[in-house]
Formats: sequence, C-alpha cells, structure tokens
Amino acid sequence: MITIKHVSVIGAGTMGNGIAHVFAQNGFSVSLIDVSQSQLEKAIETITKNMDRQIAKAGLTQEAKQAALNNLQIYTSIAEGVKNAELVVEAATENEALKLQIFKQVDEHAPSGTILASNTSSISITKIASVTKRPHLVIGMHFMNPVPVMKLVEIINGYATDNKVTDTIVALSKTLGKVPCVVNDYPGFIANKILMPMINEAIYSLYEGIAGVESIDTIMKLGMAHPMGPLQLADFIGLDTCLSILNVLYQGFGNTKYAPCPLLVNMVSAGKLGAKSGEGFYTYTAGSKDLVVSERFK
Ligand code: NAD
Repeated sequence: MITIKHVSVIGAGTMGNGIAHVFAQNGFSVSLIDVSQSQLEKAIETITKNMDRQIAKAGLTQEAKQAALNNLQIYTSIAEGVKNAELVVEAATENEALKLQIFKQVDEHAPSGTILASNTSSISITKIASVTKRPHLVIGMHFMNPVPVMKLVEIINGYATDNKVTDTIVALSKTLGKVPCVVNDYPGFIANKILMPMINEAIYSLYEGIAGVESIDTIMKLGMAHPMGPLQLADFIGLDTCLSILNVLYQGFGNTKYAPCPLLVNMVSAGKLGAKSGEGFYTYTAGSKDLVVSERFK
C-alpha cells in the first residue's frame, strides 16, 4: 500500500473546498490549487465557516479547527502545488478538454509514483488516464456534495488502474470516515447511471403533463422515502450538469433510454439552471428556504 501524507486538490469550487476540508481535518497536509486567487480565498472562508458550524453542531474543538486550517496551503500554479504530493485529487470544472489538459500538466510535475485521482461525475477515467504516462496510477475518487457531510466515495477503476492503487484509495477513504464503493469505468459510473435516468423520467412526466412539479416530488419523497424529490434534486445539482451527464450516458451507451428530455434541453438553453441561477423547477430567493414552484409550472 502507498503511504499518503500530502494531498494536492485541484479546483477550489464547491467540491474542491469540501475535499480539502476533509483531508485537512484528518491530519493530511493539503495544497489547494485553483487558477483563481479569489476562488482560493473564498474556499478558505467557506472551510472556516463550515468548521465553525462543526464546532457548534458536531463537537469539533477550536484546537482541531486551527490544526486543520494550518494543514492548508493555497497555490495558483499546478506545477508548484503538486510537486510534493503523494495523491492529487482533481476537482476542476466538469469539462473533458480541461481535465485532459490538467492531467497532462499534473503528470509532468507530480513525482512519478503519485496517484492521480479525479472527482469527475461522468468523464471517462480511462480517457483521462490515457493522456498520462502512468495510467496504472489514475483512478476516480467521486465524493458527494456536501463533502464534509456525505459518507459515500464512489471509487472508479479505469481500464488500467492497478489493484494496489484501488486498495490504497479504499483504505484512505475509510481513514476520512467515508464509505468507499468500488465500480468499473463506464459512462456515469453507478451513481449517475441510476440517478440521472430517474431525474430525466421525472422531467418527462412533467413534460408529458402526467403530473405537476409538487406531485412528482411529493410522490417520490413520501412514497420512496427520498429526502428530496427528483425535480428539486435536479435544481440542486444544476440542470446544465444533469444535461451534460445525460449526454455522456446517451453517447457512451448509444441507447435512447438516456436521451435528455426536450424540456430539460430547453430550460438549459433558456438559462434556467436551477438553484444557482435562481430558477429551475422552483424559484430561489436569497435568504429564503421556502420551496416555491416556478411560475412556468404553476
Ligand atoms: P465548481 O464550478 O464549483 O468549481 C470548479 C473550480 O475549478 C473553480 O473554482 C475553477 O476556478 C476551477 N478551475 C477551472 N479550471 C481550472 C484549472 N485549469 N486549474 C485549477 N482550477 C481550475 O465545480 P464543482 O461543482 O466543485 O465540480 C468540480 C468537479 O466535481 C466536477 O468534475 C464535477 O462533475 C464534480 N462533482 C460535482 C458535484 C456537485 O454536486 N457539485 C458532485 C460530485 C462531483
């Protein structure tokens, strides 16, 4: 098993700050890297705020918070940020060309034995690995949002991933207090291969006029004990993200059962991306937690 003490996290957005938080809190030295200095500063603020919440609610001590924050360093250069890493976890924007370019760069600058992981939701780990000189050391490490809270890590074996690398990442995930599940590298892996068709079917049901937004979400919440209905969940994930994952499934399997609903395509074209844009199936007002169905679907 490969010993890991120093982790570099690339991308300081929603997922990157959560991943850096969890590693730093568990005693790892963490280099957090982003192209944007302001995004790095925002990430440190978010991590600090989230740790304060853990102090209030989950019994984290001030000393443990300070120790975790001391474990964090920020970088705007990949070359600088990965040079001491034993593990790199990439959590940059979900864009294949961008990820391939990042992995090429990381492969050049990280030590030759460093494991390279991606937090991608849907991009092929095998394809990412193919642009490096170490495909046997490349793996998927798919954390869930919000990272400090959600227990699952979906671990994705690329075509060439070495068993020792998988064992190391499984053990490491347990060290972080997570529950790892290992799957093989096919479009959408498992989480999104099952979740996205359900969300798409909910959108089709609305599009076909079978039921309204509230009925669809209430049926799935109360009937299936889901914490959130599929339309609200789609808004939370981002409708653009849902569309992009459905397209990966549709193209990857060549099966029309994954074809995105035309209503979803239209909503994304119209800039209705869910919570982050203020409107999707519901409307979102800053400071309000009320769930209000969008005018369009009333
Ligand atoms: P985000 O948009 O919040 O953050 C992406 C960050 O990447 C930004 O801070 C951006 O500045 C940075 N970035 C872009 N190009 C970069 C580069 N060349 N070098 C360094 N940093 C760069 O995105 P996110 O929601 O955190 O998603 C990140 C990854 O995690 C994606 O692959 C996504 O599919 C995956 N993911 C997201 C979720 C979720 O619910 N948001 C859940 C699981 C997995």
